[in-house]
Amino acid sequence: MRIDIITALPELMASPLSHSIVGRARSAGIIDVHVHDLRAFGLGRYRQIDDEPYGGGAGMVLMAEPLFDCLESVMADDSDLQVDEIIYLTPDAPVLTQASANALTLRSRLVLVAGHYKGIDQRFRDAVVTMEVSIGDYVLSGGELPACVLVDALARLLPGAISDAESALTDSFQDGLLDAPLYTRPASFRGMEVPDVLRSGNHESIRAWRERMREERTRRIRPDLLED
Ligand code: SAM
Repeated sequence: MRIDIITALPELMASPLSHSIVGRARSAGIIDVHVHDLRAFGLGRYRQIDDEPYGGGAGMVLMAEPLFDCLESVMADDSDLQVDEIIYLTPDAPVLTQASANALTLRSRLVLVAGHYKGIDQRFRDAVVTMEVSIGDYVLSGGELPACVLVDALARLLPGAISDAESALTDSFQDGLLDAPLYTRPASFRGMEVPDVLRSGNHESIRAWRERMREERTRRIRPDLLED
């Protein structure tokens, strides 16, 4: 999978895209991530990328022209892969779910657009954006962290990205439930014990206990998942 990211703050993305599973997946060629600096397509001597909103009001807006120019340069590269989706990260969009992340892993190439300030010129959204994704019902300062969140959510699902493929498939949300509690050594710590069943070696009892815990935790913490 190839992902191109258009951003006014490329340096903000360097660390999340270079470490842990995403970093290793990139090094292994499982995911190919390219970050494009919107400022390079800024207008005039000062490489302007934002301007005041029509109609007045607080905050600046990312201008259409640098966004279009940057996107066109991304699309004009020599990659064999066709762009499947142009995704704008924005809070006023459907919220990313495990199901939507799973579905996106079937795509070969994505372009992610990170907004800034008040947001981006609506004409870019109307003309070229094919999908909009929010990472939650709260507002961040820019789309860089949301873009990193999306890349991470996708990278860990790609074959070979994590050593134990089953691990990603048994995480929370994959089958509509939250994960079960986890314990590791020592068995006893400051008077707190690991549940006996997990040390019993009885795989069927462990499976049944985990299933019960998952249902109980989901009912208590996220009952909305059971309604879905
Ligand atoms: N005026 C926008 C609104 O009220 O919907 C918020 C703009 S926000 C301050 C600036 C940028 O951060 C957005 O253009 C978007 O790219 C990004 N952003 C902020 N919160 C986000 C979220 N929850 N999900 C995805 N992107 C987000």
